[in-house]
Amino acid sequence: MTDYDVAIVGAGPAGVSAAVSLKDRGVRPLLIDRAPEVAASWRSRYDRLKLNTGRQFSHLPGRRYPRGTPTFPARDHVVEHLDRHAHEDGIDLRLHTRVERIDPCARGWRLTTSTGDVDARNVVVATGYQGVPVIPALPGSFTGETLHSSEYRNAKPYAGLRVLVVGTGSSGMEIAHDLTTGDVATVSLSVRTPPNVMRRAGPGGLPGDVLAVPLDGLERIFLRARPSALRARHRAEALRRTPARSAGSPRARGARPRAREEALRAAEAGGSG
Ligand SMILES: Cc1cc2nc3c(=O)[nH]c(=O)nc-3n(C[C@H](O)[C@H](O)[C@H](O)COP(=O)(O)OP(=O)(O)OC[C@H]3O[C@@H](n4cnc5c(N)ncnc54)[C@H](O)[C@@H]3O)c2cc1C
Repeated sequence: MTDYDVAIVGAGPAGVSAAVSLKDRGVRPLLIDRAPEVAASWRSRYDRLKLNTGRQFSHLPGRRYPRGTPTFPARDHVVEHLDRHAHEDGIDLRLHTRVERIDPCARGWRLTTSTGDVDARNVVVATGYQGVPVIPALPGSFTGETLHSSEYRNAKPYAGLRVLVVGTGSSGMEIAHDLTTGDVATVSLSVRTPPNVMRRAGPGGLPGDVLAVPLDGLERIFLRARPSALRARHRAEALRRTPARSAGSPRARGARPRAREEALRAAEAGGSG
């Protein structure tokens, strides 16, 4: 059994960030992943995936993307970046190792893994929140192929077919766009709530997040200084812009079609929210 000051579970962007940050502070971490390679979740995403956030805000701490990387790095740039830095000297990388349990022990924590036990004083759990694809149970009798966005790679298998993309988050919008550039017969996009449509790049090709981060800070300062009636109106506006969280048909889940409108009216009238 090996003892570590810090064991990190998950070698995705969060785990590798923690590992390089600890290494920079003189701590030699153990970085564990169940997959055979670093950045497993990024490796398995669709071919055309690019970051929505600019490279200036999307690199690992203290490690910029190499010169020549596009403003919005592609999937393979992200994978290469994470892979290179996870292999830096000063980080012990253990792949093909699934962490099955974490229990308290005299030294701190005992990790039961598929390749043996590890003791560590501290554990960082960086296993992500999108590891399990979810397809909501929708009523009906559709007999065509249904797949989750995590299984989509490119438009080739859908040549000549009619495709419905359900959901207008980043993945849905990008996949719909990718399909339109292939030989697909028609592409439809199902929209339940008005989507937030943002340009990836602003004026002069500047990434949207370069402006969004300082603007968000300014908005918070501005909001704190506003009288409560105006704050209530702002909450109503935020509610209008926020997509509903639950998946599936709102009616099937007992939602009344007008509930959202009523919540908006209550918020605008200065009610709770
Ligand atoms: C299509 C898409 C586009 C995105 N685009 C952007 C973007 O442009 N900008 C941005 O900032 N974010 C983006 N994100 C969001 C976010 O950056 C990514 O989802 C990111 O991969 C999350 O990193 P993570 O390290 O938290 O988790 P993950 O990348 O999911 O990594 C978790 C790791 O933990 C491992 N693991 C899980 N369980 C165990 C276990 N029991 N034992 C050992 N290992 C385990 C997994 O194998 C995996 O490698 C995007 C997400 C998606 C889905």
